[in-house]
Amino acid sequence: MPKPRVIFWYRTDLRLHDSPALAAALDLKPSCLYPIWTWDPHYVYRARVGPNRWQFLLDYQSDLSASITKLNPKSKLFVIREAPQTLFPKLFKEWDITHLVFEKDTDAYARKRDEAVMEIAKKAGVEVIVKTGRTLYDPDELVKQNKGKPTMTISQVQTAGAKIGDVPRPIPAPTSIPDPGDTSLTFSSEPPEVIPDWNASHRDAQDTCYHKLAGPNNDFSVPTLSELGIKPATSPHRGGETQALSALSSILSNTTYTATFEKPKTAPTDFSPQSTTLLSPHLHFGSLSVREFYWRVQDIVSAYKGKGKKPSEPPTSLTGQLLFRDMYFGAQAAQGHAFAQTYNNRFIRFIPWHLPSTISSSTSLITGTYHIDDTKAESYFRRWKAGTTGFPFVDALMRQLRIEGWIHHLGRHMVACFLTRGGCYVDWERGAEVFEEWLIDHEVACNVGNWQWLSCTAFYSQFYRCYSPVAFGRKWDPDGAFVRKFVPELQNYDKKYIYEPWKAPIADQKKWGCLVKGDGSGDEGRGTKEGMQTYPKPMFDFNTQRDICIQGMKNAYRVGLYGNDKRVLDGTWRAL
Ligand code: FAD
Repeated sequence: MPKPRVIFWYRTDLRLHDSPALAAALDLKPSCLYPIWTWDPHYVYRARVGPNRWQFLLDYQSDLSASITKLNPKSKLFVIREAPQTLFPKLFKEWDITHLVFEKDTDAYARKRDEAVMEIAKKAGVEVIVKTGRTLYDPDELVKQNKGKPTMTISQVQTAGAKIGDVPRPIPAPTSIPDPGDTSLTFSSEPPEVIPDWNASHRDAQDTCYHKLAGPNNDFSVPTLSELGIKPATSPHRGGETQALSALSSILSNTTYTATFEKPKTAPTDFSPQSTTLLSPHLHFGSLSVREFYWRVQDIVSAYKGKGKKPSEPPTSLTGQLLFRDMYFGAQAAQGHAFAQTYNNRFIRFIPWHLPSTISSSTSLITGTYHIDDTKAESYFRRWKAGTTGFPFVDALMRQLRIEGWIHHLGRHMVACFLTRGGCYVDWERGAEVFEEWLIDHEVACNVGNWQWLSCTAFYSQFYRCYSPVAFGRKWDPDGAFVRKFVPELQNYDKKYIYEPWKAPIADQKKWGCLVKGDGSGDEGRGTKEGMQTYPKPMFDFNTQRDICIQGMKNAYRVGLYGNDKRVLDGTWRAL
C-alpha cells in the first residue's frame, strides 16, 4: 500500500496544540502532509468582516505558518487563493492526494460547503476524515442528547453533556510535521463564480480584495492588509496561537481569579487590563483550544477545592462561560440557517420592531396605545452605531467596539438592550450585523444567540429588566475613567455630570471645553467657533422611551407570535 498523501485543511482551528483533526492526520503516518488554507468567497464577500478581524486572521495565519516551519523547515501554512469548492478537485489531482482531514464546523454555511467538498472528494476517491474540536461537545451530539432540540439553557447543556461523557483531555502539540510533497501547481487560481449579495459599497472593496487574493500565487504566502487594499486595523489586540497560549497561562497563573471568577462581578468599564479573559477571539479562530482552556481551569478549581476553599460555579464561573458558548453552538446546530433570523424561525418571538426605513410598516396597533415613530428609529440606529447617542456610556462602548473590536460582555448587554427592547426598539438583527462587522471574536452562534437573549426574543424573557445608560455605567465606574478614554470630548467633565453631561450648567460646559449641543449628525468633536468641542444632546428621554418599549414588549408577548407564524410570514400581523 502506498503511504497516504494528506491535505490538512485549516479553517476554525488555527493551532497546533490539542487539535484532534491534526492528530488524526498525523496518525495516518503520511508520506506527505500539506497544511493549507483556502480563501473562501463566503468569508471574503458574504460575511461582514472589518479591518480588525481581517488583521486578526492574518496574524493567526502568519503565527501558525511560522510554528509549522519551526517543526519542519520545508513546511508552512500554504495559503491558496481560491474557493474550496473549485480548488479541491484540481488539488486532489495535482498533488495525488489520498486523504483530506479537517475540523468539524456546524455553522449553517460551513455545513453546506463541507457537504459539497465531501462529495467532490468522494468522486475523486479521496478519503475524508472529520473530527470535532471547536467546542467542548460535538454540537450535533449535544442536540441529540437534548432530545433533538436546540440547547436553550445551561442546564440542558449540562444534562446532555453528562450523557455524552467527560470532555476529552487536550492532546499535546506535535513535535514534528511531515514534509509537504511537491507543491507546484499547473493551474492558476480562479475568482469565484458567484458574487453574493450584501451591502454594495462594501462589496466593491471586497471584490478588489478577492481579486488580489486570487492573483498570482507562487509562494502560498499570507497576504498583508495593505496588499489586500484593506484599511489598517485600529485594534490594540493581536492574534496568534503563541499569543493565545501565553495569554491563557498569564491569566490562569492567578489561581484565585480563575477559581473564583464570577461574570456578574466583573466590570464592563475596566480596560488595560479588562476584567475578563479576552480569550474569545482566540477561541473563535481556534488558536486556543477550548478543551485546553476548560481542563486547565478544572485542574485549578480542583486544587482550590482540595485546599478546602469554595470555588465559583456555573453559570457565573469560567466553566459556566464555556458552557454558554456550547449552548449557543447547540442552538445553532439544531436550527441551521433559520437560527440567524426571526423570519420563519419557530424558536424566536416575533416583535414588531421598527423595520429598516426602506420597508414601510406600522407598529402602532401591536404596541397598543403607544405610537413608535419609524423615522426616528432609523436615526436612533445610526446614532447608536456611530457612538453619538448623547448617552456617554453607550457611546463609549460603541466607540470601543469600533476601534478595538472587543467590549466586555456586560457592555454588550448594555448596548444590545439599549438598541432593542430597552431604548430604541430597533430589530436585533440590525445590531447583530454591526457586531458581525466590528467584533474580533465574531462567532455566528454566540453573536446571534446573545442578541436573541438581550432582545428577549429567545433564551430570556424578563423584558422589564432594562439597563439604564446612566446608572449602569456609574455603578461600575463612578469617576467615569472609561467614558473619558473613549469619549475624550468629555474628559474634563466633573464626575457628577460624566454620565449626564446635558445636565451640566452651560458655564461649566464652557469651562470644561465641551458644549452639549446638536443631534449627533456629525458636528461632534469638531469644535465650535469659540474653539469649543461639542457632544450631542441625548437622543431621547431614556425613562419615557424605556416605558414605551416595555409597553410594546408586553403587547407583543400577549399576542405571542413566533417567527414561523403564518401571520408573520404573510404580513397580516399588521392587522392585529
Ligand atoms: P470571558 O468572560 O473571559 O469568558 C471566557 C470565554 O467564554 C469567552 O472567551 C467566550 O468564548 C465564552 N463566553 C463567555 N460568555 C459567553 C456568552 N455569553 N456566550 C457565548 N460564549 C461566552 N461571544 C463571542 O465569542 N462571539 C460573539 O460574536 C459574541 N457576540 C455577543 C453579542 C452580544 C450582544 C452579547 C451580549 C454577547 C456576545 N458574546 C459573543 C458573548 C460574550 O460577550 C463574549 O464571549 C465575551 O465577552 C468575550 O470576552 P472574554 O473572552 O473576556 O470572556
